[in-house]
Amino acid sequence: MTAHRCPVCATATVPTHALTILSSLERTLHWCPDCGHSFFPEPDWLPEAYESSIASTDVGLVERSLRLANVTTAYLVRFPGDGPILDFAAGTGLMVRVLRDRGFDARYFDEYGPNHLAKGFEVSAQPPERYRLITAVEVAEHLVDPVAEFRRLASLSDAILFTTQLGPRDTPPPADWDYLSPGTGQHISFYSPASLAKLAELLGFHVVSRGDMHLLSKTKVSARTWRLITTNAVGHTLAAFRRSHSLSGSDHEQALADLQRF
Ligand SMILES: [Zn+2]
Repeated sequence: MTAHRCPVCATATVPTHALTILSSLERTLHWCPDCGHSFFPEPDWLPEAYESSIASTDVGLVERSLRLANVTTAYLVRFPGDGPILDFAAGTGLMVRVLRDRGFDARYFDEYGPNHLAKGFEVSAQPPERYRLITAVEVAEHLVDPVAEFRRLASLSDAILFTTQLGPRDTPPPADWDYLSPGTGQHISFYSPASLAKLAELLGFHVVSRGDMHLLSKTKVSARTWRLITTNAVGHTLAAFRRSHSLSGSDHEQALADLQRF
């Protein structure tokens, strides 16, 4: 069998579970004994897996987006600054719209889309663009090369707020872990607390986590601040105050002006 190196720390990995991907392909999950990262090597089924870019089984997407929007709101209030926010792999544009409704200048990037809710706010997500913060809802587990992708994000911003579920540190994830999601074939990279720490080290960033919520940042965020930022009631309350700053009025005028140009 071909030896596969860990995509995060480059240690030789061990095969763990054979799983049936997309109901028909037998593929083996690999686990890194050094950092606890798990992954499917050489995922040749992705075009088929992405025929529908949002997996039909992902019924939690809206709830996660709104929860991350609240954490993002609390972060942006706690760390005020200039510059737009980028929602990376923004899907329908829900997160961008919610943030704009709270008065934050959020922008949209997604190679696959479809962008329904944030038309006119698309960006190319390439340097020299710079963002005050990047958000990424359920993106990290889709990455073939997490280090390269996070380096790209780190070239655009000094702070990346994202969701992904973590596996255990010292053992491979159980074969029946829902998050492996072999039926959809879209999840291929599974982080442990140590593989996230390794990723942060490679970027020269700090990392803090709470459940499936993570922040990679150049400036260290204290455990107390992070706990406050990730307390949903805090973000929820701040969101109510932020509605008076909503960009929806000016966005609406811009959309009308764009229509009249056609
Ligand atoms: Zn590793």
